Amino acid sequence: MDLFEYQGKQYFARFGIPVSPGGVADTVDEAVAAAEKAGYPVVVKAQVQVGGRGKAGGIKLANSTDEARQHASNILGMDIKGHVVGRVWIEKASDIVEEYYASFTLDRAAKKHLGMVSAKGGVDIEQVADEDPAAIARVHVDPLVGIEDYHARQLVFGAKLNPAARSGAIAILKSLYRAFVELDADLVEVNPLILRPDGSVHALDAKVSLDDNAAYRHPEFEDLRSLASLDPRERMARERGLNYIGLDGEVGIIGNGAGLVMSTLDVVNQAGGKAANFLDVGGGAGAKTIANALEVITSDPNVRSVLINIFGGITRGDEVARGVLDVIRTHPPRVPLVIRLSGTEAEAGRRLLAGAPLGSRETMDDAAAEAVRLATQPVRA
Ligand code: GDP
Ligand code: MN
Repeated sequence: MDLFEYQGKQYFARFGIPVSPGGVADTVDEAVAAAEKAGYPVVVKAQVQVGGRGKAGGIKLANSTDEARQHASNILGMDIKGHVVGRVWIEKASDIVEEYYASFTLDRAAKKHLGMVSAKGGVDIEQVADEDPAAIARVHVDPLVGIEDYHARQLVFGAKLNPAARSGAIAILKSLYRAFVELDADLVEVNPLILRPDGSVHALDAKVSLDDNAAYRHPEFEDLRSLASLDPRERMARERGLNYIGLDGEVGIIGNGAGLVMSTLDVVNQAGGKAANFLDVGGGAGAKTIANALEVITSDPNVRSVLINIFGGITRGDEVARGVLDVIRTHPPRVPLVIRLSGTEAEAGRRLLAGAPLGSRETMDDAAAEAVRLATQPVRA
């Protein structure tokens, strides 16, 4: 789960990393109020989970109430790489002497934490990695031992940061590592980390990605999630306890077991279609689960057909068939359904479905071909 900048900064502050005071706003009036409170000059920053907001016009300096109002009204509602800005973060503007880059991530291959620092901050770090890899200092930290002063010093000296920034950067790196570990993050990144004229080092941006697998030991993840997840289909699925990921095709997919669902996506692809989603109803899915799954999938306006692919093990074909029949009776889906049942009680399931208004196929290939055909045929007027 990726956090918004302002959420990341709230976490940073909790770990003693210096960030600028500010406030969030969802309307122009709230933005002006937040600017007045922070004191001019302020920066108005679009809260979307994509990089390069600055270049896209989503970050503006305001020196007065009028400018704050004008920038907030331009930025709220702005589309940045397909993300519509619904919220801005307003913070007291900083004077910048230099911009650096700092991050901690997981290096799976090395089975260690990886710290990276560069004196070339404020720009796209992938570009720096491509063009001048030596400009990025990298240090591995053994997760069982944790960060020591020498790790932070190696990063700061290795990146040749301005001597004036050394002690501030070392202190921040240690706090940033602590935040990374205690939050169960996959990534904490500060770009830019800045040196200010008074010699202080300060986090001007925050990118935090939390590991969803650790949600059980962080009750606060749930609150962050309600704000972070923007795809209405995914929010709806989560409320129903479904394992759903939205995609951009036109064939809705329901399957049981992650592996089967993945192969279903491939088969739909081979049949010339594109999947609208990944949805794994898991083991032992009954009528209610199928009904919920269909409800979420058909709420997506791009969906033109739904393919239900069940390999019965713990999940029983007859149970799934009952679920499908239930839905057809109570909430007739607006798009055609195609089902392939095999395994436990598949025969019984097919008997139950005989005569129901849906396509039933014996093999995954045939079912996918039929779902794709239905999804791509011209819409009747
Ligand atoms: P990103 O483009 O989405 O990564 O957004 P950032 O928060 O990193 O901001 C982009 C750039 O805007 C920074 O690299 C700075 O150059 C500039 N910027 C952001 N905040 C301030 C500020 O308080 N003062 C000044 N002078 N520039 C800022
Ligand atoms: Mn940035």
